[in-house]
Amino acid sequence: MDLSYILNHLGEERETYRGAVSPPIFQSSIFAFPTVAAFREGFRDEFKRTTYTRGNNPTVEILRKKVAALEGAEDCLMFGSGAGAIAAGVMASVSAGDHVICVHKPYSWTRALLKDLLARFGVTHTFIDGTDIANFEQALTPATKLIVLESPNSMTFEMQDLAAVAQLARAKGIRTLCDNSYASPLNQSPIALGIDMVAHSATKYLNGHSDVVAGALCASEKIIRDVFRGPYMTCGAILAPHDAWLMIRGLRTLPIRLQRIAETARQVLAFLEASGKVDKVYYPHAISNPQFALAQAQMHGASGLLTIQLRVDDVAGVERFCNALKRFLMTVSWGGYESLMFPVCAVYSAHAPVANPGGSPLSFVRLSIGLEEPEVLIADLEQALAAI
Ligand SMILES: *Cc1c(COP(=O)(O)O)cnc(C)c1O
Repeated sequence: MDLSYILNHLGEERETYRGAVSPPIFQSSIFAFPTVAAFREGFRDEFKRTTYTRGNNPTVEILRKKVAALEGAEDCLMFGSGAGAIAAGVMASVSAGDHVICVHKPYSWTRALLKDLLARFGVTHTFIDGTDIANFEQALTPATKLIVLESPNSMTFEMQDLAAVAQLARAKGIRTLCDNSYASPLNQSPIALGIDMVAHSATKYLNGHSDVVAGALCASEKIIRDVFRGPYMTCGAILAPHDAWLMIRGLRTLPIRLQRIAETARQVLAFLEASGKVDKVYYPHAISNPQFALAQAQMHGASGLLTIQLRVDDVAGVERFCNALKRFLMTVSWGGYESLMFPVCAVYSAHAPVANPGGSPLSFVRLSIGLEEPEVLIADLEQALAAI
């Protein structure tokens, strides 16, 4: 199936809605049946029938088909957030007494899911450095049921060899989940590499317009049916029909947005690497990245999220840089049409040491490259670096 067919046509039954090119928003919580026999059918297999919007909704279903096809998965469920999608995938895969292996710097709420929430229900975990396959082998226990990956992660972009982890897990009957938000389905295909479940914060590149919080979980129909029967229907973290419609609209331009963002990121990277005010740039496709060869081999292309380590003596220097930037908005999240910055020092006291032995150095500023003209962004960075 070609990409433009998926984005423009797949799942859209236009003949059933009078030829409307943009699909209707089925803004209905319930769907009525003409007879008891039909109603009974609706109950028999809620996974396939449209009865109640917590289960299925026709607008959300269009989106499910498109995201599944983008990931090369048999099926997909959409959630009200990426955190909801990850939690559902994990919870559907473990029981009390089971053990989970997870990369050591995952998204913060993925860490909290294992460390704070599931630990209370008797699920144990080990966080490991996922850059070396030997660390997975060492962390395995007879109780290991799930391996949680995030490649690249969203701050310093460490990667895992997805095919190698999948092979190791499959040989032992262990399920794998990969958070693919950074790469998007266009730049990395974990399922083709043998990974069982792929999760997305669809809030980021998939939607791309900073106006929807959403998540996706892609897998085989068997696993998706499991997730549906379990955490999806039980916890009810669904995506509303209107948000699904906005996401369908956002998806139409995913390839052209990512293409532009990657090209601009390449130019911004070159500028930053040449700057005397920047100690280091973290970016999967930077030649200086020790995992550059893996990025080239495993990913189909580059994205637009990178982190710079500023050459500063104190947090005040970072603040001067960030406060001077005009075209990068200062906030959380990433992946939209607009460029963003996230200074790590904002989550610590202004008087904390720049080195920060407990976590990311306070001289880190993450940049999400948007759709602005590259020269506008570079000029803005240049004046802000001068302000340090
Ligand atoms: C943002 C993010 C999430 C969480 O997604 P939400 O849509 O905010 O719930 C998960 N993983 C990664 C890598 C993210 O960047």
